[in-house]
Amino acid sequence: MVVVEDLSKTYRTGRNEVHALRGASFTASPGELVAIKGRSGSGKTTLLNLIGGLDTPDGGTVRVDGREVAALSEDALLALRRDAIGFVFQSHGLIPVLSAAENVEVPLRLARTPPAERDERVRVLLGLVGLADHAAQRPYELSGGQRQRVAIARALANRPRLVLADEPTGQLDSETAAAIMPLLHALVASEGVTVLVATHDPALLSEADRVLNLADGAITETPVPTG
Ligand code: ADP
Ligand code: MG
Repeated sequence: MVVVEDLSKTYRTGRNEVHALRGASFTASPGELVAIKGRSGSGKTTLLNLIGGLDTPDGGTVRVDGREVAALSEDALLALRRDAIGFVFQSHGLIPVLSAAENVEVPLRLARTPPAERDERVRVLLGLVGLADHAAQRPYELSGGQRQRVAIARALANRPRLVLADEPTGQLDSETAAAIMPLLHALVASEGVTVLVATHDPALLSEADRVLNLADGAITETPVPTG
């Protein structure tokens, strides 16, 4: 599903060079919930951005469903991001003037899903994340945890095969955060997607199927801590 090989990325600002990734490799299979840990600045966001085609590597390759992301045309990359990949960011990124249901609907509109199918999919997704009764509420009328659950529902709208979550609990209190990981886990099971979650929150790691550690720009597999 996701094959990352010898990935490298260097940022240059003025005379400074930051080697965010230097030869990072790993593989993730369908239906796996893989956590990527590492201290702040270790390259987690860089890695997810490269996997999602939001940035291009200096060396190495990312393949999603057998296709090399950096080799795709602009149109093919847009289609991949719209149809195959769901993004969940640290800050939910919901549109403030839209209701929870309308936010989840945005990617379905972009994919030109017919209205009846759109409504049904939104209903199912909000149910899946436990927000069936909050469909009409705007983001400011929801709690932080509820907003992040809407963001997860939105990421799943077009039935992605891969979900990339970048510290999705980073702005939540620990109790609310603890509810997000089991949710992602259930989604992996019910929708069969691959989920990659960057987090440095040790409390979340025990929910993952696998834990990868990012340090010095490289990835090593570490045991899943018991929760
Ligand atoms: P993490 O998500 O693990 O905190 P990042 O991938 O955001 O790590 O950053 C890895 C390193 O690359 C850090 O040293 C960071 O300062 C640097 N970096 C990230 N993005 C940029 C950028 N756009 N320009 C310059 N340096 C960057
Ligand atoms: Mg980051």
